[in-house]
Amino acid sequence: MLSLPNMDDIDLRHKNVLVRVDLNVPLMNGKVSDATRIIRFVPTIRDIIKVNGKAILLSHFGRPKGKVDASFSLRQVVSEVEKVIHRDVIFIETDWNDVSEAKKIIADAPLGSVIILENTRFHPGEITNDETLAKTMASLGEIFVMDAFSAAHRAHASTEKLAHLLPSVVGRAMQKELSALSAGLDNPTHPVIAIIGGAKVSTKIDLIENLLKKVDGLVIGGGMANTFLYAMGVGIGNSLCEKNLSETANRIMDRSEGEHCAIILPVDANVAWKFEANAKSSFYGLDAMDPNGMILDIGPSSINRIKGAIDDAKTLVWNGPLGAFEYEPFDAGTVEVAKYVAKRTAEGKLISIAGGGDTVAALAHAGVVDDFTYVSTAGGAFLEWMEGKSLPAIEALKNSAPAK
Ligand code: AMP
Repeated sequence: MLSLPNMDDIDLRHKNVLVRVDLNVPLMNGKVSDATRIIRFVPTIRDIIKVNGKAILLSHFGRPKGKVDASFSLRQVVSEVEKVIHRDVIFIETDWNDVSEAKKIIADAPLGSVIILENTRFHPGEITNDETLAKTMASLGEIFVMDAFSAAHRAHASTEKLAHLLPSVVGRAMQKELSALSAGLDNPTHPVIAIIGGAKVSTKIDLIENLLKKVDGLVIGGGMANTFLYAMGVGIGNSLCEKNLSETANRIMDRSEGEHCAIILPVDANVAWKFEANAKSSFYGLDAMDPNGMILDIGPSSINRIKGAIDDAKTLVWNGPLGAFEYEPFDAGTVEVAKYVAKRTAEGKLISIAGGGDTVAALAHAGVVDDFTYVSTAGGAFLEWMEGKSLPAIEALKNSAPAK
């Protein structure tokens, strides 16, 4: 387990605490359509305001390209934050080039206030990790709490540089996330199984290479399994496939033996002739695939094999759907396996960790997001963690300014 300083290691009483959260939440018709990221940082806010600190929230929102743009204003999420935390929030239309007005508002705010500053990406220095901007941010607080794991893979002013300028600790949500992830790959109970799916091998080579070293079984599904099957000489018809990656796929399969990692590929598939919802489809064994067909999901024998592998495992990590889950009936493999993972988890037989944008959507579709041990809403940061990379914001916390 990573040992980072956390909120128990610092005196927050009556302090102005800058908290990097992830308010980059989805909006639909001007309203927040999924408040998960807000709900997760509530414990951090609660622990600051209960000791009369002021919680001053920093976040990016969308990609405004370094300019002030009302359509990316964090003002749009204020009422949802108020709803989730059950208290009023002060919103400051922060001018990141001159924060004198913001400083005054913060000073005048009563102890225990929750304050949201404007989108950090309204200043171009946010994404260039500009020291001047980070110093401007630091001038608004006394302590920095990093609580946005989903932004931890980016060395930005509000995620990385700021941690070098103020005494900095990890927030409650990120602490919980790191400890869940640590139980998944850094320090897991073996046997460990990984399920990797999704469209393409090319986006997940680093991830597979890292997993080979760490897990005992690797289930490969989704479109990316086709590249492996093709490399093995299996007919895959018109299925999605990166033929140029055959050599990579073979190298990965060769390496898996030396690493004592069993690779589990589909043995049958739900095959269609059109890529669309409710397309006519049939199950085929992969020894007898229709040359004109497209593999859009794993078949029943593959599902049973995966269930058997899950039965043997004590820990599971999952990224990527096993089929084109957005289109029925090609969601069936992902849904059935997801429900099985949820069942084994509920029985106390499995620690299950999943993450990545499409994966969370697929698990939500299966109705099991709350039934896994931990589901990470971080996209890029989760993948980089699975790839075994060190994340800049975490490295910065290890080297933060000492507490005064
Ligand atoms: P990724 O973002 O790499 O995790 O890929 C997720 C996408 O992979 C989803 O949109 C799925 O529809 C797609 N996908 C999964 N399996 C297949 C398949 N057999 N053929 C085509 N697309 C697939």
